[in-house]
Amino acid sequence: MDLRPLVVVGGGIAGVTCAEQLALHFPSRRVLLLTACPLIKAVTNFKQLSKAMEEFDVEEQASSVLESRHANIQVIQSAVRQLESGEHRLCTEDGELYSYEKLCICAGARPKLILAGNPYVLGIRDTDSVQEFQKHLSKAKRVAIVGNGGIALELVYEIEGCEVIWAIKDKAIGNTFFDAGAAEFLVPQLTAENSQAPIACKRTKYTTEGKSGNEQEEEREAEATELGSALGPDWHAGLKLKATKEFLHRVHIETTCEIKKIYLQEEFKQLGEISLAFPDGDKDAKSDAEIWPVYIELTNGKIYGCDFIVSATGVVPNIHLFLSGNNFAIAEDGGLKVDTHMCTSIPDIYAAGDVCTASWEYSPHWQQMRLWTQARQMGWYAAKCMAADICGEPIELDFCFELFAHVTKFFNYKVVLLGKFNAQGLGLNHDLMLRCTKGHEYVKVVMQNGRMMGAVLIGETDLDETFENLILNQMDLSAYGEDLLDPNIDIEDYFD
Ligand code: FAD
Repeated sequence: MDLRPLVVVGGGIAGVTCAEQLALHFPSRRVLLLTACPLIKAVTNFKQLSKAMEEFDVEEQASSVLESRHANIQVIQSAVRQLESGEHRLCTEDGELYSYEKLCICAGARPKLILAGNPYVLGIRDTDSVQEFQKHLSKAKRVAIVGNGGIALELVYEIEGCEVIWAIKDKAIGNTFFDAGAAEFLVPQLTAENSQAPIACKRTKYTTEGKSGNEQEEEREAEATELGSALGPDWHAGLKLKATKEFLHRVHIETTCEIKKIYLQEEFKQLGEISLAFPDGDKDAKSDAEIWPVYIELTNGKIYGCDFIVSATGVVPNIHLFLSGNNFAIAEDGGLKVDTHMCTSIPDIYAAGDVCTASWEYSPHWQQMRLWTQARQMGWYAAKCMAADICGEPIELDFCFELFAHVTKFFNYKVVLLGKFNAQGLGLNHDLMLRCTKGHEYVKVVMQNGRMMGAVLIGETDLDETFENLILNQMDLSAYGEDLLDPNIDIEDYFD
């Protein structure tokens, strides 16, 4: 037996899940988890809601908690500085060398920042960056948010007490998750005064277990590293995202534009240009009398002043530290390419979570998105693949890669996304069926040749499981036509 340990890099959800599975598979082997962060992220209260949908809590824990759960896991808190794949070893920041038999890289991703290094541009990734954001927000009168993914959506909805200018490059909000119809359904919720008490959140919770406020504070300070784990669902729950003005929630959306330039106050003064006041309904925008610390010029020619800018324009996989001297195949999105066994292009090195790019021919109803659930699934499956390879056993691609399923919450609505929910890759050969009750629910189904390919379910629709089955079994639904979304027909019974 190879006496070198099995090594996992990264204490996020992918790395921790992978290490735990390896420890369970090989109770008598040493599993090393190398991580840049003092705290690790653990999945708790895991619930399989249906064949493809899952729900779990995420707890930030001290590494000793993981070690006490698995006697054969040792957590080493030191960032990997260099991978020497030829020698099967890693060198960490503190100068130690660690050999491995098999290695799984789960180093996550970091925010793709517009104008990185500009003190007025913030990204949101880990606990530390959220604290920085809160500090800026507490003094702010106006914030500009750039980006149209999940983080931007949540921020725009949650921020209170200041004006928000939201610049998106698409025609409609939430383009990563929705189409224009769903966006239209959600917009009234966004622009309404956001004073209602939030509905108790039913999905993944982000909690810190069993620590006093001071302990948490100390650990967060210690965590001040650019290699922190990504936050996850409900990262804003319990956080005060409040600015200076009481009861104010005003959002102005600038569509089909990007930031062209950012000016500091002095630069802007010299420019002799005029910035715009916060738009007031349909009236023409007026010039702004206020002096701001920073100004954004959009590609549509408009200039707004603000206190700071949040760049929520996606993430880049954390691969730079592993590249030099190693010949990894890298995908177009910058991730480490992995095959159906989660193997990278280098022998005995696997990857999982945000750092990797699934580079196999996907099932017709799955796509990779850098999400919490996929990080867990990939970490778990990578461990199974490593174990199968060590034992010389065959392994088939796991069922979790059969159907894309994501359960989340936007603007206080439950949101379920299934399969090709945005007709991704279907070209023009598809039909959409819609059912919408303003303020209550939005149901969109993507059909191709009479078969259901994907769905967006917003609100408490109770259609999740039935639609999941219809996508999986690819039943010909042509005969049902519009009845499929008829609210007077209990389709759960229909397809029972
Ligand atoms: P990470 O959690 O980023 O962990 C990477 C780990 O690697 C960290 O522990 C880091 O310290 C370590 N590391 C990095 N480099 C090194 C190195 N050189 N040496 C040693 N260790 C290293 N997903 C959802 O599904 N739903 C959501 O609502 C949602 N909201 C989000 C909100 C925010 C603000 C953010 C930032 C992300 C959100 N996500 C959400 C995405 C989700 O959090 C990520 O997809 C997921 O956490 C990725 O997990 P991971 O383990 O791959 O990476």
